[in-house]
Amino acid sequence: MDFFAAGYACEVRGAASDNSHWLPERHSLSARKAAEPHEAICNGQWQISMTKKFRVGILGATGMVGQRFIQLLENHPQFAITALAASDRSQGKKFQDACTWRLSGEMPAFAKEMTVAAPEPPLDCELIFSSLPGDIARESEGAFARAGFPVISNSSAFRMDRDVPLLIPEINHEHLALIEVQRKQRGQQGYIVTNPNCSTIMLALALAPLQRKFGVESVVATTMQALSGAGYPGVPSLAISDNVLPFIEGEEEKIEQETLKILGEFKGAEIDEAKMAVSAQCHRVAVSDGHLAAVRVKLARTAAPEELKETFASFTELPQELGLHSAPKNPIIVRDEPDRPQPRLDRDAGNGMSITIGRIQPDKVLDYRFVALSHNTIRGAAGAAILNAELLIATGNLI
Ligand code: NAP
Repeated sequence: MDFFAAGYACEVRGAASDNSHWLPERHSLSARKAAEPHEAICNGQWQISMTKKFRVGILGATGMVGQRFIQLLENHPQFAITALAASDRSQGKKFQDACTWRLSGEMPAFAKEMTVAAPEPPLDCELIFSSLPGDIARESEGAFARAGFPVISNSSAFRMDRDVPLLIPEINHEHLALIEVQRKQRGQQGYIVTNPNCSTIMLALALAPLQRKFGVESVVATTMQALSGAGYPGVPSLAISDNVLPFIEGEEEKIEQETLKILGEFKGAEIDEAKMAVSAQCHRVAVSDGHLAAVRVKLARTAAPEELKETFASFTELPQELGLHSAPKNPIIVRDEPDRPQPRLDRDAGNGMSITIGRIQPDKVLDYRFVALSHNTIRGAAGAAILNAELLIATGNLI
């Protein structure tokens, strides 16, 4: 795919002998393609601007995903957290008093003294990352978008709205055209961009390269999902110890519906959903982080096992091309060992932003089977939203 032909606008700066005199200019990649060689984007002569730090607010800041946002954004070159919001249980308190830090490492010092606000506009920020529960998110995120804020959401509230991008930057950056459709239809300057359900992101990332190269006719995915996917405190210990729960409310429907939208094509003013059958069965297992899926696929054309491996392993896309800060070098890592991937060993691959695929084998019922794994609160949630925001900057949708 020729990303440059898409004519993305991005803020770049030209080489200068005097470092104090870098002048931001607006160029389009298509214009630059003619003027500069392709590798110029990241070769130090021309680069996506890291000079502006966007002031961001986190909704649901005290939760499992909210804490990941705070951890991942602590030293981010393009974002600085200036507002934190959560429920009325936390509002008015200092973050360190409202939040029990549940991730490894210390609560970042900058957040400790910040006062937790209500998730209502206005907040002291230019951009919203939301990790609110789905039922709360519809009203809160909608209010921020109406008030003019770009909202990058993890929650399910708006994912399937026809004018809302359900974005995975490696797969469907063309869907960002829905932002203008949304602004027009809703009569507002702000907008909402969502990232998919945590298991859906993993499945869609695995299917996208197969769909492009061979075509995918049908998929059967059986997930084994980590406890952190249910938030905190999540599933009671007596329900999950010595046990597997074969039900996660709404999860199977989300995977089956969202996958078709993500892999669909932007046509005119809407997404033409992918034509494939997707079947999902979801289970909660006693793993702290890292969702696993056993996947079977029927392809539209015959492929050799080595072709499948090569197709997964060589998959890179626009985020890698643009060198986005959170983009992993390899979105998909292929493992050949017979007992990988495993959550404990593989969830942190690519700083939690790569998915890992193994056990690639011909299947007697469908064509192939494999096992996929991803970190549910990084690639499946906060990291995904941050990568989405980085793409919004690079494509001129955040200025
Ligand atoms: P969580 O740990 O339960 O955290 C929920 C957050 O929302 C907390 O900050 C909580 O604040 C706040 N909140 C709860 N009720 C609220 C209310 N009535 N008004 C305002 N704020 C309220 O949940 P989570 O796992 O972080 O998930 C957050 C969202 O991300 C959900 O929509 C979930 O589906 C989605 N998601 C989660 C994952 C994952 O792996 N966990 C992956 C993808 C997407 P208090 O602390 O003040 O109660």
